Amino acid sequence: MRSYREEFLMKVPSRRGYVNITSRVEKALKKSGIKEGLCLVNPMHITASVYINDDESGLLQDYDDWLEKLAPHEPVSQYRHNGFEDNGDAHLKRQVMGRESVVAVTGGRLDLGTWERIFYGEFDGRREKRVLIKIIGE
Ligand code: ZN
Repeated sequence: MRSYREEFLMKVPSRRGYVNITSRVEKALKKSGIKEGLCLVNPMHITASVYINDDESGLLQDYDDWLEKLAPHEPVSQYRHNGFEDNGDAHLKRQVMGRESVVAVTGGRLDLGTWERIFYGEFDGRREKRVLIKIIGE
């Protein structure tokens, strides 16, 4: 079995954002040379997510509205986590959207459903965060 690992940096200029990183992951898969296996992608950070869904602008706004209803950023005083920080909501949003995504690798390609795209979800942006890609297989 072979394995491949790489990290890249994400810096979303706003507090929250949803970025399609599918082509970034495809590039890593190509570099790995792995044809059959599994590809894991996760942020190395507790206030961001990697998730898979449709790249449709209405849906991205729906996610944001929904997450703001579940865990509104303001008032920041509502979260015990806040004090030194103001990102209590971002930890909760990350939990809902998940930590990582795993995609099957078949024939050297990401074996995604028709409308499936890999997204980086940022909930406390305006700074660099590392994202890990790990691919195992043959
Ligand atoms: Zn925090």
